[in-house]
Amino acid sequence: MEVKVPFVPVMRPKLPNADRLLPYLRRIDSGRLYSNFGPLTVELQNRLALHFGMPPDCVVCASCGTAALMAAILATAGPATRDRPYALVPAFTFAATAAAVELCGYRAYLADVDSDSWMLDPERVSHHRLLDRMGVVVPVAPFGRPVAQAPWRTFRKRSGVPVVIDAAASFDCIGSSPAQYFQEVPVVLSFHATKSFGTGEGGCVVSSEAAVVNRAAQALNFGFDTTRDSASASFNGKMSEYHAAIGLAELDGWTAKQQSILEVVQRYRRELSDKTLLSRFFAWPDISGCYALFFCRDQTESDDVQNELLRGGIDFRFWYGSGLHQQTYFSNRERDSLAVTEDIGGRLIGLPMAPDLDEEAIARVAAGLCKATVGPGLRRPRRGLSRSND
Ligand SMILES: *Cc1c(COP(=O)(O)O)cnc(C)c1O
Repeated sequence: MEVKVPFVPVMRPKLPNADRLLPYLRRIDSGRLYSNFGPLTVELQNRLALHFGMPPDCVVCASCGTAALMAAILATAGPATRDRPYALVPAFTFAATAAAVELCGYRAYLADVDSDSWMLDPERVSHHRLLDRMGVVVPVAPFGRPVAQAPWRTFRKRSGVPVVIDAAASFDCIGSSPAQYFQEVPVVLSFHATKSFGTGEGGCVVSSEAAVVNRAAQALNFGFDTTRDSASASFNGKMSEYHAAIGLAELDGWTAKQQSILEVVQRYRRELSDKTLLSRFFAWPDISGCYALFFCRDQTESDDVQNELLRGGIDFRFWYGSGLHQQTYFSNRERDSLAVTEDIGGRLIGLPMAPDLDEEAIARVAAGLCKATVGPGLRRPRRGLSRSND
């Protein structure tokens, strides 16, 4: 008899509920300021800086992570020039990285990532044949796995090419040692609902250089600094007070949210360790708590895992696909060999993750992985490949 089991979504974000927002919304009602770095946005920036152990003028909020990326690029590199038309981005990332550089006038140039770290290798980039045509380099923190500052600071100093780190999903990876990851090289975070710290839409730029943060704020606000003179390349990327309200409520509940994520991760680890699959499971704190990944041995195993999850009513996602060059709009961009991106892209499966993912769902995911990854000797012969006819 077939037992109906509930479908498990790959992601089920949980942001502060209406009750927790209400005190902040009432403040907006009485203050009558709805945007333009109003009191709630400034308070959120200050509290985020405190959370990161940084001075208050080191954080500026934006309407989304993509806007924060654009602002950080404009603040450090400015728009593209004829001499330096390219922006080097990893092919293994979410489309927003390339979209942001191109909206600043650059042509995205796609580079491959390192097979262990899944990110750009600063040493390799420093020898890139087109380095003197690059206006900016945007290393990405894959699935939030933080990007070290020191090698990129060195790269920046040696090459003179500005660097902006797309750490969109890194909020909860950086939290434990912010001094290591937040320094001069500007870092961009996203507060999209699907990231672990969410405001619906939102993001920020963080740098220990207050002048860079100030220029980013200017880029987010029509190039205005203290007057209404548009003095630099800009757009409207400001965070609204309503989104700041969600951010403040999200910070109020952050410790509890992180604890819930930790409990889900621990349960995953217990289930997978019983089934000896733990070494191929990636989760918080190595990567952000909004993701849980399973690394398949090869494409065949990946196909088997996908089929098993589908059969079990379990959703999964290849978050970065097999590289930006597979996305229609970026398919004709100049690029290096993308062998690593193509290889890991099809093997790194995003599993269901949510702060309140229940035990039953986790057990089902683990059972599905176990069934799909048994040794080749135990695998049922596939139809058409079977040597015998019985
Ligand atoms: C989420 C994400 C972004 C974009 O952030 P938004 O807030 O959605 O604009 C950029 N880069 C990476 C790597 C992301 O994961």
